[in-house]
Amino acid sequence: VISKVCSIFGMRIKMRMKMNFEKNQLITVDIVDMTSEGEGLGKLDGFPFFVKDTVIGDQALVRIVKLKKNYGYGRLEKVIRPASCRREPKCSFHKSCGGCQIQAMSYESQLTFKQTKVKNNLIRIGGFEEEKINAVLEPIVGMEEPFGYRNKAQYPIGKDKNGNPVAGFYAGRTHSIIANTDCLLGAAENREILEKVLAYMKEEGIAPYDEESGKGLIRHVLIRKGFASGELMICLIVNQKGRNGIYLKNQDKLISSLSHIKGMTSISVSVNCDRTNVIMGKEIHTIWGKDTISDTIFIRNPEKGFAPTEKGITFAISPRSFYQVNPVQTEKLYSLALSFAGLTGAETVWDLYCGIGTISLFLSQKADKVYGVEIVEQAVKNARENAALNEISNVEFFAGAAEEVVPAKYRESGGTLRSDVVVLDPPRKGCDEKLLQTVIQMEPKRIVYVRCDPAPLARDLKYFGENGYVLKRICPCDMFGHSYHVETVCLLSKRSIMSM
Ligand code: SAH
Repeated sequence: VISKVCSIFGMRIKMRMKMNFEKNQLITVDIVDMTSEGEGLGKLDGFPFFVKDTVIGDQALVRIVKLKKNYGYGRLEKVIRPASCRREPKCSFHKSCGGCQIQAMSYESQLTFKQTKVKNNLIRIGGFEEEKINAVLEPIVGMEEPFGYRNKAQYPIGKDKNGNPVAGFYAGRTHSIIANTDCLLGAAENREILEKVLAYMKEEGIAPYDEESGKGLIRHVLIRKGFASGELMICLIVNQKGRNGIYLKNQDKLISSLSHIKGMTSISVSVNCDRTNVIMGKEIHTIWGKDTISDTIFIRNPEKGFAPTEKGITFAISPRSFYQVNPVQTEKLYSLALSFAGLTGAETVWDLYCGIGTISLFLSQKADKVYGVEIVEQAVKNARENAALNEISNVEFFAGAAEEVVPAKYRESGGTLRSDVVVLDPPRKGCDEKLLQTVIQMEPKRIVYVRCDPAPLARDLKYFGENGYVLKRICPCDMFGHSYHVETVCLLSKRSIMSM
């Protein structure tokens, strides 16, 4: 069990019976491996301990906090001998926040960690031979600047000990807010925006929302930035319906302070009066400026160091739209997907789980016809609007579950529906087997598979392998620097096609 969950760098952990350890005991351990969630894994007398905030290569003083039969959990007390990959995290909140699990590693080592994670999953779960993986696995595409990359931030608003409004993040798995208006992963403008909102709340005596009582007004602040356009959007999520377009006391005062920020394009309010963890409410009302901001994603050339090309696709983004949060890496990821698709202009392509049509619109530049399928109606509406905005007419979008829409279309065609290329970009929970079966029946020459979790990806690649497809290329891409997440794009081609 242990070797399955934890072994990233290849250490095989042998199960041992619990030694004479005790809870609260201080021990010195060498961190010899890391789990796929970025926790250090140490061993003492062969007995494994999971130790958060340590990295591979550390020797650490650890306090035992939990003991199980075959493994234990420790809390880092002190790094005795730091690993060569250990770096002082830039963010002083990184331990309590939990958003950046591996910020204490050099960025280069983070990339190695992710590359190894993909490789190990392919071997252990996908059942691929190591030589095969070495032949098809390409080096991870990293970021040039692993800070300030997120175009979207959602800050909860709460109170500090003195009752002052604060913006920050939830500590660990709790609901108490630690004040920090300057997450280093986000846009530089976030801080100024949040400070203006907090100053306004203080001056006007506006109470932050309190989850326990359900009282108070401002729940969250959502900020989005179009990196290419420089446009900024702010949406305040409030716990009260408005009247005649007024949602906040002296609303004009807030608008006047925010609208002066360079790039400010849209200020809105979303009403959410429900006692829920869901951030956004259903209603959104623009109180200043436009309803959307725009952003452009450029197609890059993976063969030429991802040099940008002239071709870009522009998106209108509303507060509720799904839009990739790391635009710089998104351009690389989509360009890889497009290049893997190997389009000549004559192909029919199905883009499954298409969201607001981002990949579909990229593909449409080089395909004859693209069909997108997406379950969220609003996203499909956005996808159609985005196609129109870019004057793209060779795409068609269907709203519905991919595992229902695609098999239904296949049945309707009497089993004749074919696609030259199929692109899959499922959410975390993955693809239904019914969909995978239909994709195979459509006999695409190539399948491009984008996935944010390498373990289930490896499982599906194995399935395609058993059904006539060969893994040709696989390239990890870092979309979330400092976190343990890794995105991967793969190319599978149909075995009978000799030329591939
Ligand atoms: N390719 C898009 C979106 C990827 S995220 C992009 O890169 O922007 C995965 C998408 O799958 C989400 O938009 C989600 O709403 C959608 N989705 C989730 N379950 C689905 C299902 N069963 N069928 C179709 N789409 C689904």
